Amino acid sequence: MEGVDTLIHARWVIPVEPSGSVLEDHGVAIRDGRILAVAGNDELRGSYRADTQHDLGEHVLIPGLINAHTHTAMTLLRGMADDLPLMTWLTEHIWPAEQRWVSEAFVRDGSTLAMGEMLRGGVTCFNDMYFYPEVTGEAARQVGMRAQLGMIVIGVPSGYAQSLDEYLEKGLALHERFRDEPLVRTLFAPHSPYTVDDGFLGRIGEHAERLDVPVHIHVQETADEVQQSLRETGKRPLQRLEEVGLISPRLLAVHATQLEQTEIERLAAAGAHVLHCPEANLKLASGFCPAAALTRAGVNVALGTDGVASNNDLDLIGEMRTAALLAKAVSGDAAALPAEQALAMVTINAARAFGLEEEIGSIEPGKSADLTAISLADLNQHPIYNPLSQLVYAANRQHVTDVWVAGEPRVRDGQLTTLDPAETIARAEQWRERIAADRAQ
Ligand SMILES: [Zn+2]
Repeated sequence: MEGVDTLIHARWVIPVEPSGSVLEDHGVAIRDGRILAVAGNDELRGSYRADTQHDLGEHVLIPGLINAHTHTAMTLLRGMADDLPLMTWLTEHIWPAEQRWVSEAFVRDGSTLAMGEMLRGGVTCFNDMYFYPEVTGEAARQVGMRAQLGMIVIGVPSGYAQSLDEYLEKGLALHERFRDEPLVRTLFAPHSPYTVDDGFLGRIGEHAERLDVPVHIHVQETADEVQQSLRETGKRPLQRLEEVGLISPRLLAVHATQLEQTEIERLAAAGAHVLHCPEANLKLASGFCPAAALTRAGVNVALGTDGVASNNDLDLIGEMRTAALLAKAVSGDAAALPAEQALAMVTINAARAFGLEEEIGSIEPGKSADLTAISLADLNQHPIYNPLSQLVYAANRQHVTDVWVAGEPRVRDGQLTTLDPAETIARAEQWRERIAADRAQ
């Protein structure tokens, strides 16, 4: 009998790779934070002796979910300004509130709230674009969550930085600071082609090449954005990114709701990735990312929630269902974006976008033990013909019971292990009181 740290015996394991596979009466052996074996429960019991054992007889075990695009600290602005088009929402509500309130304390409390919500909903990793990313990184380290921190660059002065150069400088310092942190990675996050000029985007591309990191940018989110770019430069935003060398396997294009067929083909040929945020696009009436057409063309598509101020939650299980349903409606094809593809978009596809496909995104020996267990015991989960279909079309995040990051339990029986929800909520409500009182004046 070989010694391991943890054995998880599940009713089903959905490893994601190979796609569509559902293993019944299977489990996982974990040692030193990594998946040592995926096998039948009897075989695991016969081969390994574990310090900790979990019997999850009514559960499906999946890879930890990856939120490919968010702005975690904005969770403090949940519900502050709803039912508005993107530019009104951004310029009249969000940017003024951020100018007034965003600080290190705001980012710490907002991103901690977001991490609690995400972990509780089965999310083990997120990709963030926001001010004071070092504060979010420290919070992630404390909570024990995997984070991709954006080296944010935006042509709007803030308490964090005043100029494009200062943003870039702080980003490079961030990269140095977290370079040896096992769960935290950094990547470039220029906000958009309408807030960062083409010359500067080109410079960011050169730094990305040098540091070997992705470039994460909002692009072609709305028809207005494309029209404005055409008016001012005679070019579509993606064409401008092309001219400064950003259309490459490093590109993580967020939203991309306004795509022409030639642009889809170009993204596919370049090996670029699209980060699709269906609920934020629906809520802001931004348009529809052609997720099924992109996937058919060979573009890697991953899902994000976007910030809570435009979603209004960080629920990737819900986002996965929305993406599947929306793709069918947009393409007029009920077979578009089937359940296994929707699940891939919140796991292995996201891992691939960040260059982490050898580390996370599927349940395979050698990968980090980032795992999520979801109970299928509830009335609304029965009968169970197909656990994968149930997960995408009938489960919700309230059914998440246990979550591990690198083999460490972060949610046990529905309870967060590394942060205190009551304290986190109290801090969020203190912010709400101050912000609401200020807005009422
Ligand atoms: Zn965003």
